[in-house]
Amino acid sequence: MLKGKTALVTGSTSGIGLGIAKSLAAQGANIVLNGFGDAEGPKAEIAALGVQVAYHGADMSKPDEIEDMIAFATKTFGGVDILVNNAGIQHVARIENFPVERWDAVIAVNLSSAFHATRVALPSMLAKNWGRIINVASVHGLVGSAEKSAYVAAKHGIVGLTKVTALENATSGVTCNAICPGWVLTPLVQKQVDAKAAALGISNDDAKKQLLGEKEPSMQFTSPEELGALAVFFSSEAGNNIRGVAWNMDGGWTAQ
Ligand code: NAD
Repeated sequence: MLKGKTALVTGSTSGIGLGIAKSLAAQGANIVLNGFGDAEGPKAEIAALGVQVAYHGADMSKPDEIEDMIAFATKTFGGVDILVNNAGIQHVARIENFPVERWDAVIAVNLSSAFHATRVALPSMLAKNWGRIINVASVHGLVGSAEKSAYVAAKHGIVGLTKVTALENATSGVTCNAICPGWVLTPLVQKQVDAKAAALGISNDDAKKQLLGEKEPSMQFTSPEELGALAVFFSSEAGNNIRGVAWNMDGGWTAQ
């Protein structure tokens, strides 16, 4: 379905980004991976799906590196047709104890990076009159949780950015939508499970149950594969007139 298209997924060496990259590759899209840590393993997983894959290690908190990454994707594959703004980090603390440097980092990686990647990728999408911009927000783009001020502010911000991007391009073939997952068991969330287990002196399994029980009525983690399937749907021709939505996949979290 996506043969001949190129998808750039930020923060795709791990977790949700890697899951979305694999789902898009399974539909035939060539992939540009990004993120820290080992890139060879993820590259091999994508290549095994029979598509072309490249990697760029841009630090998503640095606008000039983001510009360089889009230029690299254009040079390698002729442009970016599907941009998935997924890279994200978390820091948990009350506002009065929140390190200023962590606030700046979370806003830069979780919000500003999407603005920079979008502004640089848009012109060639508009020239082709086809594009998909998918912002990985969170339930925290729709509701708040204590001790996550920077994350919740950034995720509400990216939902707003999604709407404006959709509106500015509404008469073109370029759509923009957000995905809002609840808990997904990735390294980002495992750190919060570990912190809960240590703080309460409970097992890893009990900490997971507590985490789910506080917020997610289904008592199930959403999987990267399920989120990948939604990204594929947004990228399909059936997604042509879905514009500016913030679509939650959260086991009922925000239905409460
Ligand atoms: P993860 O920690 O598994 O992956 C994050 C990815 O981002 C990694 O590839 C990492 O290398 C990359 N990254 C981090 N900082 C970067 C930087 N400065 N430059 C480039 N890459 C960077 O986390 P995840 O859970 O897969 O999170 C992915 C996205 O999904 C994030 O935006 C997160 O906020 C969002 N999200 C996660 C959950 C969840 O429960 N895990 C829920 C809702 C939303």
